Amino acid sequence: MFVKKYSFSFDKPAALCYDDRMKRTIDLSEISDGKLYEIDDLCRLGCSDCAGCSSCCHDTEGLVLDPLDLSRLRAVTGRDFMSLIQEELELVMIDEMLLPKMKMDARSACHFLDENGRCRIHAMRPGICRLFPLGRFYENDDYKYFLQTLECRKHDRYKVRIREWLDEADAEGYHDYIMSWHRFLKLMEEKLPLLTDESRSSVTSYVLKVFFLAPYQAEADFSSAGSEGRYSTDLFFSEYYGRMLQVREALHPLFPELEVPDFDS
Ligand code: SF4
Ligand code: SF4
Repeated sequence: MFVKKYSFSFDKPAALCYDDRMKRTIDLSEISDGKLYEIDDLCRLGCSDCAGCSSCCHDTEGLVLDPLDLSRLRAVTGRDFMSLIQEELELVMIDEMLLPKMKMDARSACHFLDENGRCRIHAMRPGICRLFPLGRFYENDDYKYFLQTLECRKHDRYKVRIREWLDEADAEGYHDYIMSWHRFLKLMEEKLPLLTDESRSSVTSYVLKVFFLAPYQAEADFSSAGSEGRYSTDLFFSEYYGRMLQVREALHPLFPELEVPDFDS
């Protein structure tokens, strides 16, 4: 369930982002109903389980993954990062960072879209797929949701509470995690250009290795929940914040003029 996942970042005029990263400038009123939503708001999201449509699982150029997405993919496929990168994923440089994103197959569709137009990893689908057709509007070190009115093919959508739509076991924990990762990427975007090519390459490789290559113990919990099961993300978040602390401490000497920001608060 995904076509173009947009989010707005802090800057005004509004900078339209692809999964928080590939920015463009656009007026929010051109692509949404002009409202910003909170997690317990009702929003016209319901599409009768997509009923025969898989439009937004095609040409998903902006489907960049975060560490939780990758961890879930590893759990549901039983494959490691290097194996996934051979087929379903690719590495791309976005705003100075090397990040994994979904690769399209010969149908120009996501590799996880089955022959019946259904997502083969629905319970473990990436956060951007859970969000669609919502986007995130980042402002004042937080975000709200907006509805992308031009993206979904269904026009008779009914109201659903955003919390239910996201289908996260711990919606508040997930929000904090998204903010932590967003702050980190913003900081890297700002500071990595200050480094030499060699140092920048070392940092991006190191970050990729710590957050994406090394498996999380939480993946055993994800796997045991089964393809349709609900699973706890508590252990994942705890491991993620541990790794964020490790990265923060490791990178601090490279940016001595900076106070080390509190990414994960
Ligand atoms: S992971 Fe699933 S929902 Fe997301 S684009 Fe692929 S097939 Fe569609
Ligand atoms: S375009 Fe809308 S109805 Fe079609 S797959 Fe995407 S979310 Fe579902």
